[in-house]
Amino acid sequence: MRTRFAYIYNSAKWLLLFTVLVIAPLVLAVVGHEEESRGFWIEFGVGLGFAGLALMGLQFVQTGRSSKIGAPFGMDEILHFHGQSGYVAWLFIMGHFIILFFADPDYLRYLDPFVNLPRAVALSGVIVAVCCLIAFTHWREKIGLIYEWWRASHGLLALFVVFVGTVHIMQVSFYVTELWQQVVWVGFSLGAIGMLVYNRVIRPLQMKKKPYKVTSVKEEVEETWSIEVEPEGHEGLDFKAGQFVWITLGDTPFSMQQHPFTISSSPEVKDKIRFTMKELGDFTSEAKNIEIGSKAFVEGPYGNFTMDETSSTHNVFIVGGIGITPVMSILQTLKMRGDQRVSTVIYGTPSKDLTPFYDELKVLAAELELKVIHVFEEPDEEGEAETGLITPDLIRKHLPEDISNCEYFICGPQPMMDVAEDALREWKVPVHMVHAERFNIV
Ligand SMILES: Cc1cc2nc3c(=O)[nH]c(=O)nc-3n(C[C@H](O)[C@H](O)[C@H](O)COP(=O)(O)OP(=O)(O)OC[C@H]3O[C@@H](n4cnc5c(N)ncnc54)[C@H](O)[C@@H]3O)c2cc1C
Repeated sequence: MRTRFAYIYNSAKWLLLFTVLVIAPLVLAVVGHEEESRGFWIEFGVGLGFAGLALMGLQFVQTGRSSKIGAPFGMDEILHFHGQSGYVAWLFIMGHFIILFFADPDYLRYLDPFVNLPRAVALSGVIVAVCCLIAFTHWREKIGLIYEWWRASHGLLALFVVFVGTVHIMQVSFYVTELWQQVVWVGFSLGAIGMLVYNRVIRPLQMKKKPYKVTSVKEEVEETWSIEVEPEGHEGLDFKAGQFVWITLGDTPFSMQQHPFTISSSPEVKDKIRFTMKELGDFTSEAKNIEIGSKAFVEGPYGNFTMDETSSTHNVFIVGGIGITPVMSILQTLKMRGDQRVSTVIYGTPSKDLTPFYDELKVLAAELELKVIHVFEEPDEEGEAETGLITPDLIRKHLPEDISNCEYFICGPQPMMDVAEDALREWKVPVHMVHAERFNIV
């Protein structure tokens, strides 16, 4: 059951653990250390380096797609946190270099190729790598870097920083003198490498043993396609309605084209999974051309955008465009379970013709305790829909008097999500009753 207490407890627990792990290297460094201090700024600069390296290593844990770590918050929240803490890691690492160079310019010799060429190349490489990590992420679309290449370079650059950073602190060896301290740092570095190897090698190998076969490709509306896959030689996936998976289409699970999609069918249907994709870039525009009978690989499930099976009595879905996919899974599940709790769907799309699942929603509304409010940007000739965009007034108009009894699910374009989340916050809806799924995690 979702409660405010559980939400705060989980957040506090993970935040505390995260902080402890970032600070741990500093504690580790000073344990048993007997040499004299080299002055505040030098020690501060060194401390930033240790904490920055620990933060870099923890990025691998955050992006490791562990369902245990993702469970309390949802994978999109974890990846957003990864984005934010990545900037902090960059600040710490750059702060390490800059403060040391200013505090004692003699440290510039670490970058001098005539003093020690491999060290100068490696450490200059770290400065370039951390700056590239941030710049490529921030300006990826502006510089036209293809998503898949960005993703591959992101992992490799981060790995390079962790590896060189670990070798660097062992070589400087001012704070890492004992064998046990060296073992801890090597273990830390191996852990980060291990996470990457697990994600890019072991997981695909596991997926290879559980392939799926494409059985249907159907156009829902213009530029939106549903693809159905069936498990081949295994029982399929155990997931909750509203969750998402990473999909690879084609003969090998090692492809760089691995994309997250929400399952738009119900977990009650065991022998088939449906995904619905809106054409956006190279993968989603090509997916419709996949041949029936070809292979697909599925990694997951992930995500927290799931209805509470015990506590909520009224679910309100505020969705836009392709953000309807998790809602379709949830509504189909309510129907198949004969669950007659109340649902309201406020669904924004450009027009009736561009509304995926318009007919399916009509059928569901007749069978469930479900009210669907379509919000078309263009005026609706039949006069059944609201016109314009989803606004706080429009949402409020369709909510019951006591809004605190509802559980809210928000999924769609960023501006729509912001409007809905801000409105619910202003109306003091408890944070643990609001679930949001962002399709643009990076
Ligand atoms: C949790 C989640 C659930 C999603 N569910 C759906 C869904 O049900 N239906 C749907 O149409 N779309 C969904 N998406 C979005 C979908 O993943 C992207 O539209 C798709 O990956 C775009 O790939 P592309 O090559 O066609 O476009 P590109 O032009 O390569 O990418 C467009 C944008 O999509 C994102 N993206 C691309 N590749 C990846 C990747 N491998 N991992 C993460 N993000 C990526 C990036 O933000 C990128 O800027 C979901 C996204 C997330 C994060």
